[in-house]
Amino acid sequence: MRYCTKCLLTDSYPKITFNEEGVCSMCTNPKQFKPLGEEKLLTIFESAKSTNAEYDALVPISGGKDSTYILHLAVNVYKLNVLTMTYDNGLLSDIALQNIESAIKATGVKHVFSRTNSMVQNKIYRHTFLHAGDICGACDIATKAHIFKVAQDHKTPIILLGTSPLENDSFVPDSIQDIERFKYIMKSADGIAKKEIKEFLIYPNLNLLRLSYYKHTGRFAKEVQPLFYIDNPTDRQMGEIITEHMGWREDKSREYSKHFDCIAEPLTNYVRNKIYGYDRRVCQYSNMIRYNEITREKASELFRTDNIESKPVNYQRVLSQLNLTDENLDAIVKNSPMKFEKHTSKMNKFFAILMKIKMRIKG
Ligand SMILES: [Zn+2]
Repeated sequence: MRYCTKCLLTDSYPKITFNEEGVCSMCTNPKQFKPLGEEKLLTIFESAKSTNAEYDALVPISGGKDSTYILHLAVNVYKLNVLTMTYDNGLLSDIALQNIESAIKATGVKHVFSRTNSMVQNKIYRHTFLHAGDICGACDIATKAHIFKVAQDHKTPIILLGTSPLENDSFVPDSIQDIERFKYIMKSADGIAKKEIKEFLIYPNLNLLRLSYYKHTGRFAKEVQPLFYIDNPTDRQMGEIITEHMGWREDKSREYSKHFDCIAEPLTNYVRNKIYGYDRRVCQYSNMIRYNEITREKASELFRTDNIESKPVNYQRVLSQLNLTDENLDAIVKNSPMKFEKHTSKMNKFFAILMKIKMRIKG
């Protein structure tokens, strides 16, 4: 295996190349993070306020670092009148639930839990995990749908998301959020009715074109990612700010501080490393190195303590919730990348090309 001499990526990362000094193409051509500008963000907030809706914005919170920080920004810094919500994906950790409670208490905002049938949810996770090696896709699709649904019910003009530039390039090459692909995978599921799948999806025919149209016509709220507009504190500073202002607590048992809101994250990350040869954290540590947040030595140390090669401590809990055995897990890690890629939405592919052309015209 070949390692980049600057970051932690190896030659298993998709489309990566190395120069003579052994520096990877992600490091030689780093996508410099340039904030879009606070002015633009303020304009978006002003226009949201001018709609005179019951709430200026919907802030989905998971109890994790990024979404809690967004809530802090929205309420304490930008003084927005917000509604908060959490999609109960059935895998929320205790510490995440406590953090959600503390954040609501600290800000005094209204919060709603959005839920789906938990038996159906578990059956769906079980099936996609077994057959596609992943739970996150099904969870992402449902989370997004629930967020749009809550925004729609309350006529909230914008949704503030905690997506962070640090997570750039940490996704798998498969289109796991593609609804057509998801429906194709679910075709082979016994014991889950079509009606149940439809209810799980809420918007079963959503594709990128429809999504764009709905946002344009105001049927759906516009999604805004504030962390892409402003200069951000480092990961550590962000933790300190929300500890002080939001009563937020970190999971001290794990050095890595993202995604501990989900009890399945260590297991999905373990599987991901087996299937793709790189895990979620390696990508984010590498971004942190490129953004000069930590040194390569510190990142290597964090990565070593993650112990990605061994099964995570809580994996039995997740397996038993999903009615899976150790033998099932052995089969899950043998799923191959891009297995269902030919069953993704043609409309989404077309839309992606359209967007590329649009970006090129805009220069
Ligand atoms: Zn590199």
